[in-house]
Order: sequence, then C-alpha cells, then structure tokens
Amino acid sequence: MVKETKPKTTKKVVKKPVVAKAPKAKVVPKAVAKAPKVVADKVKCEDKNCPIHGNNKMRGRIFEGKVIRAKMAKTVTVEWPRRRYLSKYERFEKRRSKVKAHNPVCISAKEGDTVRISECRPLSKSKNFVIVEVLNQNGGNQ
Ligand SMILES: [Zn+2]
Repeated sequence: MVKETKPKTTKKVVKKPVVAKAPKAKVVPKAVAKAPKVVADKVKCEDKNCPIHGNNKMRGRIFEGKVIRAKMAKTVTVEWPRRRYLSKYERFEKRRSKVKAHNPVCISAKEGDTVRISECRPLSKSKNFVIVEVLNQNGGNQ
C-alpha cells in the first residue's frame, strides 16, 4: 500500500535574510581602550594574544615601564622603579620590578621604549603581561 504524501518540493522554504551582527564590544580597562588605532591598522596582525586583534582578555594590574630587552621573539623585558619603605630608617629604598611582557606584531615595541603593560592570563612559564600601548618611543631621546 502506497500512501500518498505531499511531495516535499511544494513546501515553501522561506529563508531568513542573514543579518550580520555587530561584534560585541569588549569590556576593557580604561588604559586599554586608549590604545592608538593608527598603529594597529598599519600592520596586519594575526596574533591571537594581541590585546587589540586577538582574544587576549586582560585583567589585573597595569604598569608603565621601560623596555630593557627586546631580543626574544614577541617578548620584551620591561622594568620600572618603585620605592619600598624601611620603617627602621623611616626612609624609602629604591627597588626595581622586572617582568616579561608579550610584544604583539602590531605594536612591536623596541628597546628603550616606554610602554604600558597590562596583566593577563599566563602566556608562558614566565610571561603574564602584554603590552597595550607605546607611550614614548626610545624614551623620548630620539
Ligand atoms: Zn595586533
């Protein structure tokens, strides 16, 4: 017994027009939002750890320091001075903080640059920061 069913071809399939959704605005700290767009558009950046083009979510502390070494691939060493209080002498002593930071292709900070770095998830064994912005090229000594 063959039961006749409606041929499927008659069924009208109305496709909904695909509307491109606007990408969700990322919630980033104030310092991150300041990152200059001009520099970012210059070079095609496919760095997944880039704060602007990648999906590296930043959280934690933000520092400003000087790039003292930029010989590693996509990594720089950033150093900045800080003061530590000595209660016995009621004075401050000079100390330095030194961390490794990710250097995205589109930013590519050089040795001597003053940069702003933001904490992020660990990118490697010793790298938990990423450069967000170059504040002063060559420390302003160009
Ligand atoms: Zn980038």
